[in-house]
Amino acid sequence: MIEEDYHVHCLNSPDSREPLEEICEGAVQAGIREIMVTDHYEMFRDSVKHEPYRREYLDTCARTVRECGERFRGRVYVGLGIELGQWHLQPEAAARVVRDYDFDYVIGSFHKMDDVDLKFFDYRELDTKKLLRRYLEELLLIAGQGDFDCMAHLDLIKRYAGEQGVAIRAEDEEELVREILRTLAARGKGLEINTSGLRQAVKETFPSPAILRWYREAGGDIVTVGSDAHRRQDVGAGFKEAGELLLSLGFRYVSHFRQRRPTQQKIE
Ligand SMILES: [Zn+2]
Ligand SMILES: [Zn+2]
Repeated sequence: MIEEDYHVHCLNSPDSREPLEEICEGAVQAGIREIMVTDHYEMFRDSVKHEPYRREYLDTCARTVRECGERFRGRVYVGLGIELGQWHLQPEAAARVVRDYDFDYVIGSFHKMDDVDLKFFDYRELDTKKLLRRYLEELLLIAGQGDFDCMAHLDLIKRYAGEQGVAIRAEDEEELVREILRTLAARGKGLEINTSGLRQAVKETFPSPAILRWYREAGGDIVTVGSDAHRRQDVGAGFKEAGELLLSLGFRYVSHFRQRRPTQQKIE
């Protein structure tokens, strides 16, 4: 059983309304002993047009995590993490954020293409082959330069396309995906298994089992499991399936992080 959820959000994130206390209670109920609170911090191509995230936001995140950590001491370890989107667009700002706070764990993500969130694309109107290549090329840039610990939901694009009835499979660009995975493995960066897909229309983890296998073939051995819960009932959801999947692919360990340093924990 995997008892560590390395990707949860709380109401500090713009897309969640759940107080962190509730997320922690959800963890207790699900038998999760450790959570990483990875609230969003997004980078933009044109930061002038968008309201930039500010330090007060990060200060609030850090304070909430500290307070909940004290309240749940002995029951749940509450780690300070962050989900940094589009690292490659504002690398200096991203590096500053990571440097200025005492994070246990940093996620590298990609949510927005040309500053537009992937969920707002009309996949029925787009050249999906071109779009997929572009998506993966941006991920490759993040993989090659970001100072993060694990890359999140590598084939997330299949979720939003799938919701519109369009199938996008990252596996169709095998060479590009393998290049991302080789880059991650060579830099000692991990890969997240995000279980949120199991409770969505795609009914599959991000990334898919095939891509997880390719990561292992590339020599990658740092994996974390995250529910991407934005509500208390989703903390730890799909972890039994994720554990079985990892074991079936030959992974024997998941990684834990403290102050950005991984240790390997046997999957029981
Ligand atoms: Zn994300
Ligand atoms: Zn997330």
